[in-house]
Amino acid sequence: MKINSPEKILSQAESICQQRNVRLTPQRLEVLRLMSQHHGAISAYDLLDLLRASEPQAKPPTIYRALDFLLEQGFVHRVESTNSYVVCHHFEEPSHTSAMLICDRCGAVTEQHAEGVEAILKSLAKSTGFALTNSVIEAHGLCLNCVEVEACQHQDECQHDHTVVAKKRGR
Ligand SMILES: [Zn+2]
Ligand SMILES: [Zn+2]
Ligand SMILES: [Zn+2]
Repeated sequence: MKINSPEKILSQAESICQQRNVRLTPQRLEVLRLMSQHHGAISAYDLLDLLRASEPQAKPPTIYRALDFLLEQGFVHRVESTNSYVVCHHFEEPSHTSAMLICDRCGAVTEQHAEGVEAILKSLAKSTGFALTNSVIEAHGLCLNCVEVEACQHQDECQHDHTVVAKKRGR
C-alpha cells in the first residue's frame, strides 16, 4: 500500500477541507503535520508534548478537539488496542475498512484494506440478527524489520538497536 509524504498528506487534507467547506485551522493542520512526520501510531499525550514545542499553551482538550476533527474527516484512524492515533495514507478514498497491523516492538502501524474481512464480519452479524455499525480490525505482532532484528544472532557486530524489546501482551 502506498505511503504518502507529509507534504502530500497536508496538501490533500487542505484541498479536501476546501471541498467540504470545513475549516482546517492552523492548529489542526499542525497536529496533522506532527502525526504525518511521526513513525507509527502516537498517543494523544505524546502528541501534546510535540505540539507544545510550537504552542506552549496547548492543553489536553486542544489535542482532543484537533483529533476529533481529523478523525471525523477520516484523515487519521484511532488504534483502539494501543489507545493511539495514526495518519491514514489513502484518505482521499471514501470511507474504508482497514486492518491495522501493529508492531509490538517499534510501534509501526501498517494499514491494509480489509474488504474481505469486513464482508465476513457483516455476514456473521447478519446471521445472528446483530445490527453492525462499525468494526475495528487490529492485529499485533512484529513488522518485517523487527522480525529481522529479533532473529539476529550477531548482536555484538550488527547495526541493530537491540535495547528495544517487544512489548509482551497479555493473552
Ligand atoms: Zn485509512
Ligand atoms: Zn517493528
Ligand atoms: Zn542485530
